[in-house]
Amino acid sequence: MNVLSVASEAFPLIKTGGLADVAGALPIALEEHDITMRTLIPGYPAVMGKLPDAAEVAGFPGLVLGKEVRLLAAEHAGASWLVLDSPSLFDRPGGPYAGPDGRDFPDNWLRFAVFAKTAALIAEGLADGWKPEVVHAHDWQAGLVPVYLGAGNAAGTPSVLTVHNIAFQGQFGADIFAALELPWSDFTVDGVEYYGDVSFLKGGLQRASAITTVSPTYAREITTPDFGMGLDGLINARADRLFGFVNGIDTSVWNPQTDPDIASPFYARTMHKRPANRKAVRERFGLDEGDAPIIAVISRLTWQKGMDVLAEAAEGIAAMGAQLAILGSGDASLEYALSSAAERNPGMIGMVRGFDEPLSHLIQAGADAILIPSRFEPCGLTQLYGLRYGTVPIVARTGGLADTIIDANEAALSAGVATGFQFSSVTVDGLHDVIRRVMRVWQDEAVWGRMQRQAMKADVSWTRPSMQYASLYRMLVNEKQ
Ligand code: ADP
Repeated sequence: MNVLSVASEAFPLIKTGGLADVAGALPIALEEHDITMRTLIPGYPAVMGKLPDAAEVAGFPGLVLGKEVRLLAAEHAGASWLVLDSPSLFDRPGGPYAGPDGRDFPDNWLRFAVFAKTAALIAEGLADGWKPEVVHAHDWQAGLVPVYLGAGNAAGTPSVLTVHNIAFQGQFGADIFAALELPWSDFTVDGVEYYGDVSFLKGGLQRASAITTVSPTYAREITTPDFGMGLDGLINARADRLFGFVNGIDTSVWNPQTDPDIASPFYARTMHKRPANRKAVRERFGLDEGDAPIIAVISRLTWQKGMDVLAEAAEGIAAMGAQLAILGSGDASLEYALSSAAERNPGMIGMVRGFDEPLSHLIQAGADAILIPSRFEPCGLTQLYGLRYGTVPIVARTGGLADTIIDANEAALSAGVATGFQFSSVTVDGLHDVIRRVMRVWQDEAVWGRMQRQAMKADVSWTRPSMQYASLYRMLVNEKQ
């Protein structure tokens, strides 16, 4: 089966977040399900630079929504890419969505409308006759794909829209509608119209044959006003077409046996080698030697991640005898609050500011637990790395965190199936309560060791999710027949 994936970022070509990891890993994982996935990606400078041999696809229209384009094809890193080369839209400094000053590009609506329309033209077979049986669009940047599919000659090609975070919706003024070259009948409540504006995500959610998000719990949560960010009504109306598939991780990159960034490689049977990593973490974070567990935090420092609550709770956690190792960057006020807590508690709270990929690996290998107090979390990757490295996750019971960690309640502990700790209230008291529970289990070395080994047994690979996506594509194709 041929499937076209439409993603505004994909690892290893360009990455700003989790979407890139999913879009990069899925095509490779789908191969064993006899699915040939090609990925359409914009020709940002980073992408063009990594694909110097990309060749033009003959016969593709040179003009899309009035913009000059070329469609290029290339093979790279085990995957097959289609690149939308349109220098006036994509060849500029900055990131995929914003300039060097951090501000969103003012023509993002046009950049990603041309992108979505290109996907629909590919679905018509205009890329050298290659024709996908399903089109899989990701996030608002590809939100118009299902809308263009319905409006064009590819009508009938089933589409999947995956929501990686419903907080990002791609909403623009109504004045852009005419330039989208869609029929006026699409500027309605059944199309892209959203409170008088145009919403790319809303249009896609309305028209996609199926909607997926990155965990079953987040799929349920976005049907509620607390999490739906205004789109809960629509998501509810489409609940029969909504699926939640948890993300996998790249288990070859995140492998404690071969990880080049850690001090002492180990696996489940050689856990005696792990403490050398703990020692290295203590050195990096200026933490005292001793029996205290190291609880790590690796995070964007934002309200979503509960970092304001952590800043308030940090000293109380240290007072309970746990050490904190915090790696993060983000809101300046949160950076300040956390580093002040570290300065006041030398030896017990350590903080490194910044984004440091190799250090994040060392922390996962050396810390005893990883704390993720998010207010909402569509899937979350940090807890999955924690499972893989035997770093016991302590997570808020929300979204993908709730779906991937088995709480160490009495039943789970006695059955030997617990892999971490869940807590429900992202407040100072909630955090202190769960750390108290953690400290009790920590005292019993045998129980803690069993939990670590159980965590390391969890399947965090793409095996299961790729099967789920493959079944969904097959269901959509069968429905059509
Ligand atoms: P989100 O995408 O919402 O930030 P995820 O848990 O899905 O949250 O993914 C975050 C990723 O970024 C993880 O791979 C995590 O290890 C990494 N990360 C976050 N902050 C840092 C940091 N300061 N340094 C290194 N890696 C980080």
